[in-house]
Amino acid sequence: MKDKRKIETSFDIDRARRQTPGCREVIHLNNAGASLMPRCVIDSVKDHLELETMMGGYEAADRAKGKIEFTYDAASKLLNCDRDEIAVVENATRAWDMVFYSIPFSRGDRILTSVSEYASNFIAYLQVAKKTGAEIEVVPNDEYGQVSLSALARMLEKPAKLISITHVPTNGGLVNPAAEIGKLAKEARVMYLLDACQSVGQMPIDVQYIGCDLLSATGRKFLRAPRGTGLLYVRRDALEKLEPPFLDLHAATWVKKDRYTIRENARRFENWESYVAGKIGLGTAIDYALGWDLEKIRLRVSALAAELRRRLRKMPHVTVQDLGEVLCGIVSFTVEGIDPGFIQQKLRDKRINVSVSLFNYTLLDMASRKLPSLVRASVHYFNTEREIDRFVFELESIISMESP
Ligand SMILES: *Cc1c(COP(=O)(O)O)cnc(C)c1O
Repeated sequence: MKDKRKIETSFDIDRARRQTPGCREVIHLNNAGASLMPRCVIDSVKDHLELETMMGGYEAADRAKGKIEFTYDAASKLLNCDRDEIAVVENATRAWDMVFYSIPFSRGDRILTSVSEYASNFIAYLQVAKKTGAEIEVVPNDEYGQVSLSALARMLEKPAKLISITHVPTNGGLVNPAAEIGKLAKEARVMYLLDACQSVGQMPIDVQYIGCDLLSATGRKFLRAPRGTGLLYVRRDALEKLEPPFLDLHAATWVKKDRYTIRENARRFENWESYVAGKIGLGTAIDYALGWDLEKIRLRVSALAAELRRRLRKMPHVTVQDLGEVLCGIVSFTVEGIDPGFIQQKLRDKRINVSVSLFNYTLLDMASRKLPSLVRASVHYFNTEREIDRFVFELESIISMESP
């Protein structure tokens, strides 16, 4: 299927679509939920499961050691860090939790966070605040709805324990100024944790440039890896300060009756048993993304999303809800008088996948905008303008049936 190519990039979209079997089945605009895996990724997972089937799980892992280790090399290349600073875990939440819960908070320690924080992160702040007396302070937004750098700078005039920010919120297209926050964190010598779940895979992420000490990401979203895979980056000097909340015989070694030693590298945040086939699939997916070039991906994705927003803005009853000055591949909107869940269901009947972001996922942000929920359409580079046309057509017909 040839595309009109109004969006000019050097992207070989035909190849991207040929290598993505799901493209023939659905119009997938839920890449912020779980993207479609490319053929090479699912093949690498299946090959390993086949090996486990035929020779046994431990024996297969020994045989595939090179592929497993390759995942750390690929991840370190993706994030521009050392392979010893990478842990591979089961999801982004566990990656984030493992470092957050290893920070020794005490009464009065300040956690500076953002308005658009993800629920799982905020629940963890609340729990730690309750247990330790640490204090949560939310950095206000600037006039664009992004983390206000001047407000953060003012808040950093007093000592803080942690800056914990979400790079791209789950419920909208804005990109927070992660690198500028990194500069402020460095000047104030405050530890900086970045939730990069929605940004990794759709734009270049360089932890040296951003200046974060800790970063979490998931496999299944824009990286197009299998579900149940996640990544953690821990800067080497942060590593020594952080003792994981759980240790097992992979993270540590029981050396004497009354003594253990913890692993030197970031793998101290992993655990023994893991989804080996998924780990291999994650490495394959990262390598595949690097093959496309993350800057090219960013350009393609942001151009497609801008086109989608432009089209939605022209539709009666539709309100694009994205905030932010710098925007990415997530497009959020509401339709007057129609429940987002209903729209999602109707679109799915037409084989178009979108998702719904609920109030409780990002409570502070949704409450401040009085939004009970919204529709999230998230594009990836393999999506086309033709698919956007179809999406707009189907959405129009849902709206015309519901609001006479
Ligand atoms: C999806 C998401 C997470 C959680 O990732 P999991 O892999 O499901 O644990 C965390 N933060 C943000 C901003 C997300 O969008």
